Amino acid sequence: KRKLLEMKSLKTYFHTSEGVIPAVDGLDITIYEGETVGIVGESGSGKSVTSLTAMRLTQGKVEGSITFDDKDILALSEKEMRTVRGNEMAMIFQEPMTSLNPVFTIGDQIREAIRNHRKMSRSQTKERAIELLRLVGIPRPEQILYEYPHRLSGGMRQRVMIAMAMACSPKLLIADEPTTALDVTIQAQILELMQQLKASEGTSILLITHDLGVVAEMCDRVAVMYGGQIVEECDVLTLFTNPKHPYTQGLIKSMPTLDTNERRLYSIKGSVPPPGSLRQGCRFSPRCEYAQDICLEQLPQLENVEAGHTARCWLHTAAKEEVQ
Ligand code: SF4
Ligand code: MG
Repeated sequence: KRKLLEMKSLKTYFHTSEGVIPAVDGLDITIYEGETVGIVGESGSGKSVTSLTAMRLTQGKVEGSITFDDKDILALSEKEMRTVRGNEMAMIFQEPMTSLNPVFTIGDQIREAIRNHRKMSRSQTKERAIELLRLVGIPRPEQILYEYPHRLSGGMRQRVMIAMAMACSPKLLIADEPTTALDVTIQAQILELMQQLKASEGTSILLITHDLGVVAEMCDRVAVMYGGQIVEECDVLTLFTNPKHPYTQGLIKSMPTLDTNERRLYSIKGSVPPPGSLRQGCRFSPRCEYAQDICLEQLPQLENVEAGHTARCWLHTAAKEEVQ
């Protein structure tokens, strides 16, 4: 399979009054064509900054490399980057109301998205807008074109955002918590829509979420982020059946059960450290029930635990090193 997006040794720093904050701190990830890759983690783990960095939409200072469709993203001019954003990569966010302009109709906004990357006549953009609304399952698209965003439900607004993102037939759709603001039934419909688009349009998806249920539903491969770094990466089945990192194990244990739909009693103690306060050693050590001396002193590296499965934890790397 062909690599579509490859980020290597990626770092995104913010200079603040409290010093330099590394929101993303040495991240490697690859997305192949036709694949859905999830980045999962709690808020503050660096997952949203990672996706904004891929689109070069972050205010932070970026180091490392980003290769998208054989292009060196960090070397492009802003003008070239706008073309990439309009035509090849598109993004949808958690709250569609903040990305839709309340004073313009749905039709105006979709047609604007279409015109941004293709020269078309007025009647052609209208036709294409209707076609896109149909593609994302919006009923009565001819009428919806003349509605304002506040007249639509949250689920319908998210469909409109997806229609706008699909206007350019992107190779990669980056979806940051696309269903978090929606209720469970609508959430399932939007996820199904994204699956359909992936199948019919061949779009690869980078899905940012805190929700392992969404990961299970959607992803081929998953990277778990903690403290600005990936702590585990593997295929989705392995993640749920054989998680290696104590943080991943904790996330899985604290998932709601299917039968009761309530949170189990387990939850990971403590919270994600603010990015400025990163200590030496393993970043998860203050919350880890397996922490040993070495964990407090040295940062473990992301290493293979089996084929196609990496983890950043001394429980797995120390055993190897003792043998040497
Ligand atoms: Fe826990 Fe140590 Fe592994 Fe960190 S390196 S997750 S503290 S066992
Ligand atoms: Mg976020």
